[in-house]
Amino acid sequence: MVNLQQLPTLTRTLENFSFVQRHLGIRDKAAAHMLAFLGYGSLDELIDQAIPVKIRQPLDLDLPAAQSEQEALQAFWAIAQKNQVYKNFIGMGYYDCVTPPVIQRNILENPGWYTAYTPYQAEIAQGRLEALLNFQTMIVELTGLEIANASLLDEGTAAAEAMAMSYGLCKKKQANTFFVSELCHPQTIEVIKTRAIPLNIKVAIADHRTFEITDDVFGVLLQYPATDGSIFDYRDFIQKAHGQQAIATVAADLLSLCLLTPPGEMGADIAVGTSQRFGVPLGYGGPHAAYFATKAEYQRQIPGRIVGVSRDSQGQPALRLALQTREQHIRRDKATSNICTAQVLLAVMAAMYGVYHGAEGLKAIAAQVQQQTQILAMGLDKLGFVVNREPIFDTIKVQTTAEQAQAIRQRAEAQGYNFRYFTDGSIGISCDETTVASNIETIWAIFSAAEVPFTQAQLVQNFVLNLPANITRTSDFLTDPVFNRYRSETELLRYIHQLQSKDLSLTTSMIPLGSCTMKLNATAEMMPVTWANFGKIHPFAPRSQTKGYQQMCDQLEHWLAEITGFAGVSLQPNAGSQGEYAGLQVIRQYHIKRGEAHRNICLIPESAHGTNPASAVMCGFKVIPIKCCNSQGDIEIEDLRAKAEKYQDNLAALMVTYPSTHGVFEVGIKDICQIIHDNGGQVYLDGANMNAMVGICRPGDFGADVCHLNLHKTFCIPHGGGGPGVGPIGVAAHLVPYLPKTELEDKADNIGFISAAPYGSASILPISWMYIAMMGAAGLTKATKVAILSANYIAKRLDDHYPVLFKGMNGCVAHECIIDLRDLRKSADVTVEDVAKRLMDYGFHAPTISWPVAGTMMIEPTESESLEELDRFCEAMIAIRNEIRQIERGEMSKEDNPVKNAPHTAESVICGEWTHPYSREVAAYPAPWLKQHKFWATVGRIDNAYGDRNLVCSCVGMEAYGEG
Ligand SMILES: *Cc1c(COP(=O)(O)O)cnc(C)c1O
Repeated sequence: MVNLQQLPTLTRTLENFSFVQRHLGIRDKAAAHMLAFLGYGSLDELIDQAIPVKIRQPLDLDLPAAQSEQEALQAFWAIAQKNQVYKNFIGMGYYDCVTPPVIQRNILENPGWYTAYTPYQAEIAQGRLEALLNFQTMIVELTGLEIANASLLDEGTAAAEAMAMSYGLCKKKQANTFFVSELCHPQTIEVIKTRAIPLNIKVAIADHRTFEITDDVFGVLLQYPATDGSIFDYRDFIQKAHGQQAIATVAADLLSLCLLTPPGEMGADIAVGTSQRFGVPLGYGGPHAAYFATKAEYQRQIPGRIVGVSRDSQGQPALRLALQTREQHIRRDKATSNICTAQVLLAVMAAMYGVYHGAEGLKAIAAQVQQQTQILAMGLDKLGFVVNREPIFDTIKVQTTAEQAQAIRQRAEAQGYNFRYFTDGSIGISCDETTVASNIETIWAIFSAAEVPFTQAQLVQNFVLNLPANITRTSDFLTDPVFNRYRSETELLRYIHQLQSKDLSLTTSMIPLGSCTMKLNATAEMMPVTWANFGKIHPFAPRSQTKGYQQMCDQLEHWLAEITGFAGVSLQPNAGSQGEYAGLQVIRQYHIKRGEAHRNICLIPESAHGTNPASAVMCGFKVIPIKCCNSQGDIEIEDLRAKAEKYQDNLAALMVTYPSTHGVFEVGIKDICQIIHDNGGQVYLDGANMNAMVGICRPGDFGADVCHLNLHKTFCIPHGGGGPGVGPIGVAAHLVPYLPKTELEDKADNIGFISAAPYGSASILPISWMYIAMMGAAGLTKATKVAILSANYIAKRLDDHYPVLFKGMNGCVAHECIIDLRDLRKSADVTVEDVAKRLMDYGFHAPTISWPVAGTMMIEPTESESLEELDRFCEAMIAIRNEIRQIERGEMSKEDNPVKNAPHTAESVICGEWTHPYSREVAAYPAPWLKQHKFWATVGRIDNAYGDRNLVCSCVGMEAYGEG
């Protein structure tokens, strides 16, 4: 970094307004105050005390110099221009569409929506929970099934989840074959193949019209419409599958289901797919919300999050995440999947698209798409080309010779048109919501290479929509009022705003969620996400058109490799859980290639995040837990050594989080890595806590072989209310050959596709690119140090009120701290949950609760919060502690007090008679700042158990629910 002393005054002043200074909440004066409070002379002195020298090397990250917001935006704009926006007719499950501007600006580009956290604190998340309930309702009704989750990561992984669920459900012990129609999208087939291998599932890829379903088949997967556009009536096939007790999954295009018989009505047990074309930009493959729907009888086997209706303390209906006992954070290695972060923001967008258009609008869009496609086919037929014989919706496959195809391709690309070129020489063309008459005419011209003797308008005159009755939808959908109320922009705008205002996001106050790193998501980082040169790119567009994306990905991979100390990086995983899965698969492949395929033991400390054991199981590993001990919550090295030696013949990997989930830098990390290596294993480092290390130490340097990062934590991608995310992995040189491939055709030794798109959620990578570009090496390092300073400051301020559970070297914590609330249960009958709810009354989102230790809170302030905000949070926590002291002293009732009754809604404070022994002011305005700005929880404390016993997961019936 520049030496400030040597610069003229003007530049020095400007330096104070650089992006780095805007990103950091703590200025030098505040830092000095905090350091004095902690008893350190300088920031570096604190860092030297907090982080073991053993793991630190002089680090001078080789990153480009920090740029200002304007400079970075300009430089990035130039990169974006290297992406060429073609008109895409490629299909394969990705379609251009219209994002209604009211949705783009007020959801996708709105921090009120995108900075929210996963809705665990449901009382202050009713807005996005309602939007997700709309999503589930829409999915259930379009697919004709009974229950849907609140999103999965992409269509490919959703299909793989269906395979895993079918396998688990199958009662035939010996059955291990999964049938996949050869007319599924190729990237889905790739993801399935990757996922099947470690589970010893045989994938049979064949034509469903000729495939014989035998006794060893536990499940089948069909694409509807098929990847070449053909629409098949799958009833017979599904019936045959059921005859063999196999579970039938249909990967269905949502828009087509407005016109076609839904999979549920054809007998399917599961439907999966993407909701991308419901208003979410292509974005070179993601992020998009996948969906997963099934029969009610399988509700406990569903992967991912489900929103359900329950009731609050006033008996009113209230939403929350249902059936959490299926999930990785509770069931760990026995969970239904490893999904944690999903695609909430994109599911919200898709749901709003459904709310805005309603059944009528969606049907009109679908009918228009189908009409364009059929007219396109009619014209090509007139021009002498042969197209699909089966009924079609939006896609045709035109038979051409290789020679013809080449000439057509040349003419198409000269026009800026992308088609799909099949290996058999034929050409695929998919229409979408944006296809207009002139596009159809251009395509005819491209194919005929001569004047076309008819126009689109002429063919429309003789057009009759032609769908056989057996595949025509007759059932209603989206009849609920929510899908019929908001047709004008004014109405929708207000609905979006009404929901947004129910949710506490970073626009209200700090969200100090340990392990989740809710830092600033700067506006300049977010802006490129909605540039057309990123949004309108198809994931399978020719590489010659995506040079901007290539450059961004190359640079970002390079920077992340530098930051983590690894040789190679893959950006493909769509979340931390997917990074874990990819990283473990890489390790597995490494063992196999060395002739040690039998290595299948995965050691995981008890304190690990639930995704760790869940991911290990998906890789076919057996999980052996390692104890954590002592006052610092460290891994018990002797237990680790004993287990590593005991299993040395079969040891595959250790999964370790660093700094630990207990918020400390374990001194022994290098020894831990060595023990694993000495016993033939590989070290997987869960890098969710990278925010404590950037610029200070590197996982690659202390012996880890693989590490995933959560770009939606450390690298500024917003949480989106529970997704999207990006979980890239970095690997040491010996593992680079096995990283996920980025070309469908690639046949090398790698682990294949682990996401549906080559670069996963590519369109949000600009956020992390911008962050690193604007921070530079010095800025990133400063951020880490400030994050550690802020965590230590909070730990010390709260220690007298809530003891800090684990401390590392010299009594320091890393970038987060765990406070212990377990004694309050005995002294005042107050639980950690009560305190979390009471924080809402003070205008705060609770820290992470009861993880990794039950009855505790894990607080992570990040570098972006100001001293004023840290103090305000501490004061809220201390004020609550004082309320608890009043209970302890008997001055307040144990049963009827503001902590137990929290959160207090406006209605509960204002309406009806006030009967509590404390005042209404204590209930709702317990701190002075609330008079300036009061955030109200919109429902009272939610009864989770009631909702699970009386499961309702769609809007239908919700209104009646409260009365019951
Ligand atoms: C957040 C987190 C994960 C999982 O990441 P997702 O993106 O939610 O899948 C894994 N491990 C740790 C320690 C985490 O904090």
